[in-house]
Amino acid sequence: MADKDHQFEQLDAAVVNAALGALAPSFRVDVLDTCESTSTLLLDRAPLGAPSGSVIACERQTAGRGRRGRSWLSAPGDSLTFSLYWRFPAGTPLLAGLSLAVGVAVARTLEKNGAAGIRLKWPNDILAADGKLGGILVETMTGGGTQAAVIGIGLNVRLPRAIAEAVGIQAADLSSVMPFAPSRNLLLAGVLAELAVMLDEFARSGFAAFIEEWLSRHAYTGRTVRILADGAQPVEGRCAGVDADGALLLETAAGMKRIVSGEVSLRTANP
Ligand code: ATP
Repeated sequence: MADKDHQFEQLDAAVVNAALGALAPSFRVDVLDTCESTSTLLLDRAPLGAPSGSVIACERQTAGRGRRGRSWLSAPGDSLTFSLYWRFPAGTPLLAGLSLAVGVAVARTLEKNGAAGIRLKWPNDILAADGKLGGILVETMTGGGTQAAVIGIGLNVRLPRAIAEAVGIQAADLSSVMPFAPSRNLLLAGVLAELAVMLDEFARSGFAAFIEEWLSRHAYTGRTVRILADGAQPVEGRCAGVDADGALLLETAAGMKRIVSGEVSLRTANP
């Protein structure tokens, strides 16, 4: 956890593009100082003809979003928050499971940069040191036989005390699990490069291609968890895996249940 006593490196599209190298033409990176939400902006721009590969990274999100109207909190200089708009080629399997595959791409990047103990929590959290290090929000669009997605990612590079206290859950930051806090520009380029590889593979094989890798980082394999949904009884069971659609497989007293993401939250039964 860090207090705000450092000079921070500005997000800079030119630095990100230079780090992307040969992959730079696959993306169009915009850096904004302030916006409501990078995902909201891209969802607005997509129907106006934004190219696939459009990226918005922003220093200050005034209304960063998580799932189901929840907030994603960030601090200028200490967080990396960005979104990517991606149109998939015809024939891509359904985008179910995409947010889990994004988790694999982010984990790969962090590990390549020396991060230790990165774990994934179904369906869309990145954990480290038992805290939430990052969040993923995938919003999909279909029409005219094609599929597209806005992929929003928030990562805590450092965690100022004010954010740690405001999130209300155990949070974690990269500077605690890496030899040194990474350059946010290089981190953004690294995540985009891994996303490009993952999205290509996803277009061919869907989430099925990532199941084993996702499970190898699953925080709760074999553990008993509780699935909470608004207005419904919690479902308790043992985590048995995930399927090709990214559904959680839960061994319950009433047999194996498939839990699809969207409206549910996972909690450990015995924290
Ligand atoms: P869960 O599955 O645990 O119920 P969620 O997937 O619904 O969570 P997300 O959409 O991933 O939640 O993210 C929003 C939540 O993340 C917030 O409600 C808050 O608890 C937490 N949060 C917000 N900002 C941060 C942050 N910077 N670091 C860690 N956690 C955060």
